[in-house]
Parts: sequence; C-alpha cells; structure tokens
Amino acid sequence: MSSTKAFSGSLFVVAAPSGAGKSTLVNALLAKEPSIKLSISTTTRAPRPGETHGQQYYFTTAEDFVARADNGEFLEWAEVHGNYYGTSRLMVEEQMKSGTDVLLEIDWQGARQVKKLFPQAAGIFILPPSIDALEDRLKKRATDEPHVITKRLLAAGGEIAHAPEFEYAIINEEFDVALSELTAIVRAARCRFAQQAARNTSLFAQLGIHAE
Ligand code: 5GP
Repeated sequence: MSSTKAFSGSLFVVAAPSGAGKSTLVNALLAKEPSIKLSISTTTRAPRPGETHGQQYYFTTAEDFVARADNGEFLEWAEVHGNYYGTSRLMVEEQMKSGTDVLLEIDWQGARQVKKLFPQAAGIFILPPSIDALEDRLKKRATDEPHVITKRLLAAGGEIAHAPEFEYAIINEEFDVALSELTAIVRAARCRFAQQAARNTSLFAQLGIHAE
C-alpha cells in the first residue's frame, strides 16, 4: 500500500461537526496558501442551491458510487447523514507524488481510513466555541430543511466524540485566530524532516544527509 514516504506533498485532513465553520476556514486557508489543492469529493447527496458539479462536489447516483467504490476508486469513503461521500484515490496520489500538498475535508470515518494509509497525514479537528454557537450557525445557514438541521445537530455530537483521534484541535471562536492556527499547522507540517527531504532531494544529497 502507498505511503507518504514516497510522496513529497503533505496531506492534511480537516474534520468538524457541521456548523463549526470548517469550509469558511478552509477556503480562507486556500486563499492564503494557494499551492494547497483541495480534494473535491464525490457524493450521492443532492446539490444545495448554489452548488455546482465539479466545484463543491462531484454529484452522482448511489449505483455509480457503489460501483466505483467496488472498483477501488476511492482512497476512503463513508456514509454520512444518509449519503455516500468518497475521496478520489487518483487525484490525491497524483498530486502528492508531484509534490503538491493536498487537503481533505472529510468526516471522522474517512479520516480514520486515511490515517491508516498515510500515518503522516496531519489530522486537524475544528471545534465550535460552544454548543449554542454550533446550533446558531446551523440555523443561520438555512440551506437545509429544518429536519436536516436537527439531524445534523444530533450528528455533531457523534462527530465531536471522535475529535481525540486527531493530532490538532482548533477552537473556532475568533476567525482570525483560528485561521492563523490552521496556517501554522500547515507550515509546520511542511517543515517535517521527511517532507523537507522528499522535497529537497538534491540539497539533502549535497549536504550528505541520508533520510531514513
Ligand atoms: P456536507 O453534505 O455538509 O457537504 O458534508 C457532510 C459531511 O460529509 C461533512 O462532515 C464532510 O466533511 C463529510 N465529507 C465530505 N466529503 C467527504 C468524503 O469524501 N469522505 C468522507 N468520509 N466524508 C466527507
């Protein structure tokens, strides 16, 4: 199975309960660090208003999803809130091989699968500052039907229960603080010895450094 050792790009896995502000934070990070490539997942969920195929997600049917999962096309996949979501194996491996950093916005089940394949992946969990703030954000978003909001609020507890499986926790109380913390994690991960060695092979050879 693949390992990050062969890849010069870093892998970031960001998870959060719905309403923790994950997408806004990730989008701001990508604007600051445009060299990071966001993996676009495939899902069987219906597009929300304003969502476009190929931008937020690749939307597909359950039949097609299952066939592709059986074919090994997903690096990880999971059922979340009654729909399937999966990450393209090809996209992630190609990008990382070419030295591009990749960020996955996935749930804890997917994060667990990725961590098995790529132990060096940096797992980051975004937490809301309080349960009330989480509820407020879910209601204000209003892109989903009320029963969907209730379902997601209940699911939030389940997602948060898995936060200890991640290396990093960011409390999204003040956006600017949370963003600078997320940026710091990304920059630190890039300085990991193995990543530097993979990215700077000729320098390391010149200096006589032989990475493990
Ligand atoms: P939403 O439908 O609100 O966009 O996403 C619902 C949940 O599915 C979020 O927790 C999101 O991170 C997760 N998710 C999105 N894409 C993937 C994926 O490719 N794999 C997994 N395991 N979860 C995903």
